[in-house]
Amino acid sequence: MWAKIRKAVQYCSDHPIISKVVVGVAVAAIASAVFWWAVLAAVLWVWHSLVCPVPVPVWLLGLMIVGNVAAAVWLIISLRSSLKRPANAKIKTSRLDGIDWTWDWSTRDYTTMINLEGFCPRDETPLVWRGFWDDGEFRCDTCGKVLATYHMDEPETIQAIERRIRGMIARGELKAAAKAT
Ligand SMILES: [Zn+2]
Repeated sequence: MWAKIRKAVQYCSDHPIISKVVVGVAVAAIASAVFWWAVLAAVLWVWHSLVCPVPVPVWLLGLMIVGNVAAAVWLIISLRSSLKRPANAKIKTSRLDGIDWTWDWSTRDYTTMINLEGFCPRDETPLVWRGFWDDGEFRCDTCGKVLATYHMDEPETIQAIERRIRGMIARGELKAAAKAT
């Protein structure tokens, strides 16, 4: 036994290049075996984690389902509202008859015009309607200027202004006008 080992050691010192090659091959073989064993273990662990049944409390399962449903509903609502809101809903101001008009769009349908109101372009004062029989005018109480006169009463005038604004929006005129002012 000892004689054999001594002989092998003697052989190694006599042939250093051969022994280096043998040791290198052996180390490479062991390293690759360890590496592939680690890969296999990792794959098996992931597989096991995915397929093995885990006890989940019912309340947690319910919470996850409710959370998923809520996320889905929120996604659908936000998608629908973003699809429904037309580009024209961004137009909320226009100058008409020398008056700065502002309004909002109902968030219910984005086509109903609400809060249509006229302002003085000089000092931004909300204009006051002064009616005389079937005529009337929009007047600024700050600078005293009469900005426009109409041969209608106030509700008819507001309706007419809304119709004209809608016509301008439909013809695509209002974006350019809004940028110009
Ligand atoms: Zn004014």
